[in-house]
Amino acid sequence: MKCKICKATAVVALRSHNAAFCPDCYLKFFARQVEKGIEGQKLFTRDERILVALSGGKDSLALMLELSRQGYDVTGLHIDLGIPESSPVARGVVERFCAKHGLKLMVKELAQLLYLSPGCISQTGQGLVLEGLVVREPSEKDRRAVSIRMTDKGMERYRYHHDKINGILDHLLRDVSAEDRATFERVLAIVLEEGKKLRAEQAQGAGK
Ligand SMILES: [Zn+2]
Repeated sequence: MKCKICKATAVVALRSHNAAFCPDCYLKFFARQVEKGIEGQKLFTRDERILVALSGGKDSLALMLELSRQGYDVTGLHIDLGIPESSPVARGVVERFCAKHGLKLMVKELAQLLYLSPGCISQTGQGLVLEGLVVREPSEKDRRAVSIRMTDKGMERYRYHHDKINGILDHLLRDVSAEDRATFERVLAIVLEEGKKLRAEQAQGAGK
């Protein structure tokens, strides 16, 4: 198989374009496709700041690097899910890649975003698996990833608790007028929002 452009040995075949490319020509073709996609769809301009979600897989990393090479103001965001074995690997790949290419990167930990201890999320997940409420299965799209799906039993349990909690709330609030409920909901929303800000400030203070 030969490169469509320069006739050197091809390493990539694109059936959708009925073409094959050598490494150099493929990179040029890829860059042109990205450029055409952004301009054609009017996605964004070089004056905008762009956040690229980085999973640790090749697709998001390649996109990030190409956008940066094309002069876009990009910052990567990686969310560390805290899953033993797989998350440190994904995070390491992202951190090394961004350091190597001088790309701006933010890393957030899921456990921290949810105010939980790092082991808590995976332990909770494991408990749900043991009870047959969720299943972990290898992702079809990416063999390194694991997708988590609720089972029928899990959905049934979720609905049961959802209805039960709503039933209790309805019972507790049965003598409260609709107007008072609306006021209560507004106050609750304000308190929750302020609480969130306070926790964020505390977390920032602790990080210093
Ligand atoms: Zn070529």
